[in-house]
Amino acid sequence: MSSQVMPTYARLPVVFERGEGPWLWSTDGTRYFDAISGIAVCNLGHAHPAVAAAICDQAGKLVHTSNLYGIALQEQLAAELCRLGGMDNAFFCNSGAEANEAALKLARRHGHGRGIAHPKVVVMENSFHGRTLFTLSATGNTKVQESFEPLVDSFIRVPYGNAEAVAAIDDASVVAVLVEPIQGEGGVRVPPAEFLPALRQLCDQRGWLLMLDEVQTGMARTGAWFGFQHAGIQPDVMTLAKALGNGVPIGACLARGAAADVLTAGRHGSTFGGNPLACRAALSVIETLQRQNLIARAAFLGQRLLNGFRSALADHPQVLDIRGRGLLIGIELDRPCAELTQRALAAGYLINVTAERTIRLLPPLILTDEEVQHLIEGVARLVNDFTAA
Ligand code: PLP
Repeated sequence: MSSQVMPTYARLPVVFERGEGPWLWSTDGTRYFDAISGIAVCNLGHAHPAVAAAICDQAGKLVHTSNLYGIALQEQLAAELCRLGGMDNAFFCNSGAEANEAALKLARRHGHGRGIAHPKVVVMENSFHGRTLFTLSATGNTKVQESFEPLVDSFIRVPYGNAEAVAAIDDASVVAVLVEPIQGEGGVRVPPAEFLPALRQLCDQRGWLLMLDEVQTGMARTGAWFGFQHAGIQPDVMTLAKALGNGVPIGACLARGAAADVLTAGRHGSTFGGNPLACRAALSVIETLQRQNLIARAAFLGQRLLNGFRSALADHPQVLDIRGRGLLIGIELDRPCAELTQRALAAGYLINVTAERTIRLLPPLILTDEEVQHLIEGVARLVNDFTAA
C-alpha cells in the first residue's frame, strides 16, 4: 500500500478505530489489550468518559484564543500542577520535546544571567529527551542523532545512576543537570535510591539547576504524581507531557525558586501552548486521577505485575531482570527481542521493546484485577514461546 505519510515510523500492520479502557479495536473488528497506552499517554485508558465529556464540553465553548490574552483554564492548571509538584510556575507547550526545549533554554538563560557565556548542561548516557535539535543533542542515543550533525554542543554526558561521575565534573560553565527519574526509552532503568538525592545535593553545592524530565514518569505512572517524589527531593525544573492530556497534546515546563524568574515576557512562547481545550483536558485528567485514587492504584498494580512476572518467569535463565516502578515495567532478556512487538500483536497485545532487549510495559492505570492477570499471562506466554524457539 503506498502512503503519502512521511515514513518516519516503521509501523506495525494494524489500524485502530475505537478504544475503551485498556482495549482497542482495529478496523477489522479484532480486539487488542493495550499494554503501552500510546507510549505512556493514555494513563486513564481510552475514551475515559470524564475526559471525553470535558473535551466535548470545552470544544463547544472555546478551543483557542492564543497566549496574547488571559486563559483562565491555563491559570487553573498551572496552580494545580504547582500544588501537586511543589513548583512555583509553569510554561505550557504541546509535547515532551518542547517542554525539554523550554527547560534547556531556561538553563542557558539562567547561565547567561550568571555571566556564563557558554552554559553547559550535564546529561546522561542512554537518556531520551526528544527529537528537536536541542533535545536530540541532549539525548544519549547516537541513533537519534546520526545524520543531524552538527549537534548543539552544550552537554557533558555521564553514566546514568552514577552520582560520583557528576561530582567529578570540574567545569565552571555547567549550569544544570537534566535527568529522567527512571529512564524509559533507555530500557526502563531505575537508578540507585541515593542517585537523585545526591544530584540534589551537588546542584545545591554548585549552584546548578536540577531539571527532571518527567515526560514519561509523571502524572502518576510510577505510583506517585511525579517520579522524583519517591526520592523525597524537589527539582528546580520539571518537564511534563505525554499523560498530562491523556492524548490531547499538551506539555509543560515547571520551575521553582530562581528558575521561575528566568523566562520573562518575550523570551519564549508557543501559539497553541496551554490553550483552553488542552488545559481543560489536563484538568479533567488530574481530577480523575484523584477521584479514582489511581496514584495508589498504580503503585499497587505495579507491585502485582512485578510479582506476577517474577513468579511466572522464575525459571527462565533468558530473563535477566524484571524491574520498574508503578506501571512502568521492564523485562530484560538476554537477546534482542524487537520482533516480540509483532508476535504480541498477533496474540492480541500491544507491547513495546526498548534498548533492543527490554520489553517495556506501560499499561493504563485503570486496569481491573482480571485485566492485570490477563496481561501477566499473555506476556509470560510470549516470553515462554520466544525463549523456547
Ligand atoms: N522525554 C522523555 C523522557 C520521553 O520519554 C519522551 C518521549 O518518549 C520525550 C521526552 C519526548 O516527548 P515527545 O515525543 O512528546 O516530544
